[in-house]
Amino acid sequence: MFYRADPWLHVIAGCMSSGKTDELLRLLRRAEIARRRILLVRPAVDDRTPAEYAESRSKARYPSAPVRQDEAAEILALARERDADLVGIEEGQFFDETIVSVVDALRESGRHVILTGLNLDFAGRPFGVMPTLMAMADEVTTLTAICVVCGETGTRTQRLVGGRPAASDDPLVVIGGYDGAAMETYEARCLRHHEVAPPRDRDVDAILVGVMPPAASSEATPEG
Ligand SMILES: [Zn+2]
Repeated sequence: MFYRADPWLHVIAGCMSSGKTDELLRLLRRAEIARRRILLVRPAVDDRTPAEYAESRSKARYPSAPVRQDEAAEILALARERDADLVGIEEGQFFDETIVSVVDALRESGRHVILTGLNLDFAGRPFGVMPTLMAMADEVTTLTAICVVCGETGTRTQRLVGGRPAASDDPLVVIGGYDGAAMETYEARCLRHHEVAPPRDRDVDAILVGVMPPAASSEATPEG
């Protein structure tokens, strides 16, 4: 198999406002100096900035290509089409599980992959494919932010809906807000100040069904 110079997967993880995009753009600029051919993609679901470029908290910008979250294979096609040496992937947590084999294929083809994403969701749970990608990575950088409440190190993403903590059973990804009635915002907080409201759906049995196996199955005999 033909290998390029630098098969490598670097995952940059962290909470909201931890500077993941700034770190990615810093590494992309280094790669530019090394004359690497760069492809940067971001999921089309992320509507905070226009899909044509990635923008960091410090307003740094870099051209990017939008890829649908359920069509990660498109990244592979773009990388081949542009003969990219380095592939940057933003907001990795939004892609479905096919991103895992795509990232593996990119690395197997000798490409250097740098992927950013939220390691935890708004309720402090491992976010989507991120745990798998972090385990597969050759290098993991975990960044932290500043808690907006106390100024200590922030590692959690606080979701607020109309200024109040979101509930644990709220949708993982909210597109277009909650019927426009309550403004949804995010901020970095430390563990002490990270708040998650109790489930809005008080039917606890219905929630547990999705998390735990039914009691009957755990008592089933192993003989089939
Ligand atoms: Zn705090």
